[in-house]
Amino acid sequence: MYDLIILGGGPAGTAVAVYAARKQLKTAIITSEFGGQSIVSEKIYNWIGTPEISGVELGSSFKKHILYYKGPFLDIIEGEKITKINKKDNIFLSETESGKKYESKTVIITTGSGRRKLEAINADKFENKGIIYCASCDGPLFIDQDVIVVGGGNSAFESASQLLAYCKSVTLIHRRDEFKADEITIKKLLQNPKFKTILNAEIIKVDGDQFVNSLTYKDKITNEEVTIPATGIFVEIGQTPNIEFAKDILKIDEFNKIIVDPTTQMTSVPGIWAAGDCTNGKYHQNNIAAGQGVTALEDAYLWIQNNL
Ligand SMILES: Cc1cc2nc3c(=O)[nH]c(=O)nc-3n(C[C@H](O)[C@H](O)[C@H](O)COP(=O)(O)OP(=O)(O)OC[C@H]3O[C@@H](n4cnc5c(N)ncnc54)[C@H](O)[C@@H]3O)c2cc1C
Repeated sequence: MYDLIILGGGPAGTAVAVYAARKQLKTAIITSEFGGQSIVSEKIYNWIGTPEISGVELGSSFKKHILYYKGPFLDIIEGEKITKINKKDNIFLSETESGKKYESKTVIITTGSGRRKLEAINADKFENKGIIYCASCDGPLFIDQDVIVVGGGNSAFESASQLLAYCKSVTLIHRRDEFKADEITIKKLLQNPKFKTILNAEIIKVDGDQFVNSLTYKDKITNEEVTIPATGIFVEIGQTPNIEFAKDILKIDEFNKIIVDPTTQMTSVPGIWAAGDCTNGKYHQNNIAAGQGVTALEDAYLWIQNNL
């Protein structure tokens, strides 16, 4: 029986684990993998105290920090996916895909979010056959080719920026009439002659043989259908929270995010807290996820002292 089980090993989960171990709570951290979403980023410039660091390096520094505390107070369970949480007689039972069950007095959920999938005809058929969800992982397969990035936020512009280094052309397609990315990032990319943008576009279908060779969209202003040739379509249309396992037990908002009290990170069930991108917190960043993790742990620690 653990005092605390932490679900997820990104910045939020790492912060919780470090603080829990220092407070000598009997803790287990269970995660599919360590590092979190930004491990695919080539460079991260805003992890406070570190002017620049690659996503992979940041991820391994999280793991190193957790391993530092591995011992009598901290068990590390890596490579396991949580599929269900149940509550019985004030004890929480966390179940994994491989059928293992872990009991704890409290739980902190930090399972973050994953990529939102492209909704278009043939999008499923061409996943990983030209439709790609990670530019820094698979972008180099598209050297000297014409590619498309779908999206209009910072992630879309960051992917486009990486692809422009070696692709023949990059066309960024966005469904709205303006971009959500930072002005400075947009301006920088627009100076690149290989970069083109299309606004007000509703993506209809993807075509190809074995692999993608074109994308068709409808211009929302003229209603005209336009097909553009491309061998790679990089999808950056946002995130969807990894919270399926908690839906039956916790209150979730209309965006599928766990509702928390922002002053404590406690969820609708006393004894369960959540932090980072899986919550209904307004802003999503590594520093914020880590800070929310610390808040959750501090509150969980007090709660354990007062209630158990
Ligand atoms: C491409 C990209 C670039 C970014 N760049 C930056 C940046 O430059 N600066 C910045 O501050 N932020 C950046 N962000 C945002 C930042 O990565 C997130 O806000 C942050 O990672 C959220 O941390 P988290 O701990 O809440 O969740 P995550 O980082 O998503 O971590 C979730 C963890 O939970 C695990 N997990 C998920 N589901 C389960 C399950 N069912 N069972 C067990 N484990 C599970 C995952 O393996 C992972 O370890 C970027 C995001 C992306 C996608």
